[in-house]
Amino acid sequence: MNITVSLKLLFIFLIFATAEAALPSHCYDFNSRISDQSLEIKLPKVTQLFCQAQNEPLLVGIRTIESSAGEYLLVLNPQTFKTNVIKRKCLKCFSEDSPDFEDSQGAILQSDYQDSPFYHMLETYTQLPGPMVERLSATADQNDGMVRTVAPTDGYVLTIDMCPSSKHGYERDLFRLFPDDPQVNQKIVKKVGGIPIGVAITGLWIKRHKAQLAEIKQLQKDGVVQITWINHSYSHPYYRNRPMSENFLVKQQSKFPREVLLNEYAMLTNGLIPSVFFRYPGLVSSRNLQQKLFEFSLIPVGSDAWIAKGQRPHPGSIILTHGNLNEHAGVVRLKKFLRRVRGSVNLVDITQTF
Ligand SMILES: [Zn+2]
Repeated sequence: MNITVSLKLLFIFLIFATAEAALPSHCYDFNSRISDQSLEIKLPKVTQLFCQAQNEPLLVGIRTIESSAGEYLLVLNPQTFKTNVIKRKCLKCFSEDSPDFEDSQGAILQSDYQDSPFYHMLETYTQLPGPMVERLSATADQNDGMVRTVAPTDGYVLTIDMCPSSKHGYERDLFRLFPDDPQVNQKIVKKVGGIPIGVAITGLWIKRHKAQLAEIKQLQKDGVVQITWINHSYSHPYYRNRPMSENFLVKQQSKFPREVLLNEYAMLTNGLIPSVFFRYPGLVSSRNLQQKLFEFSLIPVGSDAWIAKGQRPHPGSIILTHGNLNEHAGVVRLKKFLRRVRGSVNLVDITQTF
């Protein structure tokens, strides 16, 4: 290929690349400004804004985040289930509360949203009663929400809970699966881009484990893992010797919004972008909490394979383990399981299971 042809092709490529380009980079400066401490934020607020920008798909603003540098939005792409934080002024947003909403582009965007895969899943998994209610007591619902993948797959979703813990370290190996045997990892993780993990995080764990969190974030930066950050509440209340129906967040329903939003604040100020998933502490929920979760645009994630409890994973399972050293037996069992089936399974990203 001669140089003129090469240059022409480069020129054409640049035109297309520009047309495909996302928003200007300053629109996405949230995380870098949080990490260099040039940004202070307030507690996120629940909202529902239907937003658009040139060359961007429909984005739904689910939180407004007031900051020392103006307003940001936690936005959701309802087709891909992915979230991001974007400067509000970079987007054109419509609110249902505005008087001319019905005649605006916002009404069209709203109907696109209500036809989207995310909205259908949100409705399905916050519907009442949850799928396991019949098997449990009438007063406390357990394991509501999604417990396995929606689309059939031969893969498994790995989730790791980081509930508050007084233990100093964390399950380092769990985040690396088989660090001494990268070939096993490659077989288990068929998709490139790191081991996909859903990490259900609590603010209190973050508070007491800054160094450990930094290590996990570094793994993400290095491409070893690809983490979807799941909200697991801020303080994860638990009362010894109380029945399920009077335990966990069910006991403190009025504090639920604060538990969710304070945890999002802890995540955001520590450089973690909250996803659209929520894991109930103890997997214990109620009708009231399910309704709230719908309003918060969060999909509850249960599990049909809490591995320390002896529940065996099957293809499509959402596997539950603990990464906070409180349930090491589960980690041992998981590794045994993965080693045994290493040639035939893969781990999949929770956002790609619909
Ligand atoms: Zn927990």
